[in-house]
Amino acid sequence: MNIAIPTEAKQMQSIIEKVRAGERLNREDGVFLYQTDDLLTIGQLANEVNLQKNGRKVYFIENMSLYFTNVCEAHCAFCNFRKDQGQEGSYTLSGEEMIAYVEQHIHPDVREFHIVGGHNPHVPFQYYVDSLKALHERFPQVALKAYTAAEIDFFSRISGLNYREVIQELMKVGLVSLTGGGAEILSDEYRKKMKVDKADVSQYLQVHRTAHELGLRTHTTMLYGSVEKKEDRIDHMLQIRELQDDTNGFQVFIPLSMQPISPKASIRRRNSAFDDLKAIAISRLMLDNIKHIKAYFINIGTQLTQVALTMGASDVHGTMVKERISHAAGALTPEGITREDLIWLIKGAGRIPVERDTFYNEVKVFE
Ligand code: SF4
Repeated sequence: MNIAIPTEAKQMQSIIEKVRAGERLNREDGVFLYQTDDLLTIGQLANEVNLQKNGRKVYFIENMSLYFTNVCEAHCAFCNFRKDQGQEGSYTLSGEEMIAYVEQHIHPDVREFHIVGGHNPHVPFQYYVDSLKALHERFPQVALKAYTAAEIDFFSRISGLNYREVIQELMKVGLVSLTGGGAEILSDEYRKKMKVDKADVSQYLQVHRTAHELGLRTHTTMLYGSVEKKEDRIDHMLQIRELQDDTNGFQVFIPLSMQPISPKASIRRRNSAFDDLKAIAISRLMLDNIKHIKAYFINIGTQLTQVALTMGASDVHGTMVKERISHAAGALTPEGITREDLIWLIKGAGRIPVERDTFYNEVKVFE
């Protein structure tokens, strides 16, 4: 007797076979993974891939988030962080003011500053250079992971320098890595709909390509959960994968779950836990050439982050101290977390916490 196997099961089986044979998944596979409800199979497969790449180790870093200015010339629909110059709550810190803030909050184990901010046209490019310089001179032991590709593009516009020259100027004062923000969804149609008022798709990719050519290793993100189609998410991953094939400069891919506050972005509710876990697992399966997928607890919560560690994630970001952008957009999570809580969270998922530096060198393994 012939038993008919439903097409969906067949398609899943063919993906399982491909992944186990080390074959790369294509666009059609990715779209199918988003269409199916079989989260457990996807998660299990992503877990297998992650265990092959990273074993049971899950990485975190002692870092601090810093924001020099929230004044921004752009008006991205989903952003609740930006302010106009002079608007209540707007600020632009000098190097000395930032140092005073850091001195109040830093502790000896912090090894990275994660620095992003608005595109403030009321100060020159030199301001952004001097900001890094002041921090680097005062805290030379702390790595500067600073600015998004969109900020680099903005600096290029206000300075008249090209991307290479902008990044080189920043490297001279201590920049060692770029943050991953500004990618949102790498689709021109999406960017138009969401009024993404900054670097376009090709500019985002070109900044990272240039940074990689200059020897920097960078992060990259995907802000999902608004008007984009599932196909757009897969196309986003494929563009990142293609660039990574050329440069091998991305250290980690970070799916960012859209936060719900901004009414202009037509977002009515948080993403479902189901969708958040799928984003982790599917990116683990599609991005075979990126070592780490990050579960960003600020946006998906610590409980779901634990589950994500069994579905493909191998990084939980870091202590942060005081996150502002996602919280301005409605994140309900704490603004930071202690190293003890991160270790507890990772161990609770049956994994081995590893404290890392900016370049994923191991600092301490908590067996
Ligand atoms: S997302 Fe960035 S560029 Fe867009 S408005 Fe907010 S701060 Fe400005």
